[in-house]
Amino acid sequence: MSSTDDSAIELPIVSSQDRGSVRFDFDNTYARLPERFYARVNPTHVRAPRLIQVNSELALKLRLEPDVLESPLGIEILAGNQVVEGSEPLAQAYSGNQFGNFVPLLGDGRTNLLGEIVGLDGVRYDIQLKGSGPTPFSRRGDGRAALGPVLREYLVSEAMAALGVPTTRALAAVTTGQSVVRETVVPGAVLTRVAASHLRVGTFQYFASRGDTDGIRVLADYAIARHYPEVAQSKQPYRALLDGVISRHAHLVAQWMLLGFIHGVMNTDNTSISGETIDYGPCAFMEAYEPRKVFSSIDRQGRYAYSNQPHAAHWNLTRLAEALLPLLVLEEGSEDAGVASAYATLAAFGPQFEAAHREGLRRKLGLTTEREGDAELAQDLLDRLAANAADFTLTFRRLSDAVTGPEGDAGVRVLFSDPAAYDVWSAAWRRRLEEEPGTAEGRAAMMRAASPIVIPRNHLVEAMIAAAVERQDFQPFEEFLEVVSNPYEDKPGMERYILPARPEECVTQTFCGT
Ligand code: AMP
Ligand code: MG
Repeated sequence: MSSTDDSAIELPIVSSQDRGSVRFDFDNTYARLPERFYARVNPTHVRAPRLIQVNSELALKLRLEPDVLESPLGIEILAGNQVVEGSEPLAQAYSGNQFGNFVPLLGDGRTNLLGEIVGLDGVRYDIQLKGSGPTPFSRRGDGRAALGPVLREYLVSEAMAALGVPTTRALAAVTTGQSVVRETVVPGAVLTRVAASHLRVGTFQYFASRGDTDGIRVLADYAIARHYPEVAQSKQPYRALLDGVISRHAHLVAQWMLLGFIHGVMNTDNTSISGETIDYGPCAFMEAYEPRKVFSSIDRQGRYAYSNQPHAAHWNLTRLAEALLPLLVLEEGSEDAGVASAYATLAAFGPQFEAAHREGLRRKLGLTTEREGDAELAQDLLDRLAANAADFTLTFRRLSDAVTGPEGDAGVRVLFSDPAAYDVWSAAWRRRLEEEPGTAEGRAAMMRAASPIVIPRNHLVEAMIAAAVERQDFQPFEEFLEVVSNPYEDKPGMERYILPARPEECVTQTFCGT
């Protein structure tokens, strides 16, 4: 694929001498794949980059020195103004179903994969700049990212990581010193994103839609080597790959549901092969429990509503199965057997999701054993939350106080518009708890580990963004980041971060605004 004019801009290569101790031990396995998998393209120069934040803890895990990333040279690298030696920047090709509609050519329209680094944990990570300029896949886009969405992605992805959810992470963010035009003119920014990889269901669809079976095979072998090495020796590695992706997404979406997370734009190009949460756009955490809740302004049909997420994930995985079908057919020896193999594999999603979700709900309710009626007990609570507009996060968190004795009930009751609705349920819950082994303290600890005290509440996310965009005040971002990085820890003085929005503060809609 040919490059755009922008890639013709000559970028200085940082030599070993003048990069000082900037050591990015880049490896570039993706750049070794066939040329049709990507377009080689460098980030585009920005005028006046300034550092917002470096994620020191993550940098160290990637064998990078935070001080160096924060240095003038580091900032140039994080802004895409300098390409470090060993990096081979590229934009990945992919397709995707956007709100159901298949788009044959999407691809990285505003990101550059700089290369891969093997972290201290032995895992290979992609290092990617997002908002780093146009690529051959930009279509009509400007290749840029706005400050607000960059801060949102940084904060929410780090919150998700701290909550224990598989996710891409944020290594750094810089402002560019240039404006971007969205609904209004806003500051531009670049996010450095880290992922186990950026392979998507849409990457498989790209080759499948072109009838490029060889491309599908190369990609599948790459995905297996990188994410599912244990299946390489299996008799049917491609079926095992599909099994693996399905299983990871069943668990991932169960975690989302247990935290009230709404991704908002579960298109197949935003569905990762590694099983990580990726592409934080109009995402939001639910406050008052409402199964049909939608935040995204563009999700008019509620396709990606909270309660529809398991269904949407299954739909996306069905698209993956379709893309892998040529390999499944070869593996099984006939068309019919290949299709049967795909169906059999997909059928595992529902039960795996249900089991993970049920198990998570049991932990949130302090139950270590499984009894008949547990699912009904949990559902009854959810129904009462919905009927009483009770805050999802706080209800479960405060149940960990109530589990040690009725003096903890008051904090839960006040969350219900009709507190008596809680009393009826809690009586049944306490009867069930009598059948549990172990101590009340042990149960409370388990419950606190399953239900965070802090989530990135939408009104605070919006206020944090407004402070940065309108007043260049990054203090709220830094403070909030610190708080969401310890979401299970109850510390004094955090009421502001813990309590739900007052009615006048409530955010009802989120915007891509990318
Ligand atoms: P997203 O909604 O971020 O998942 O992006 C969907 C597709 O649109 C991807 O192919 C992106 O690369 C592309 N895209 C989003 N924003 C821009 C932009 N500002 N410039 C160019 N491409 C973009
Ligand atoms: Mg995307």
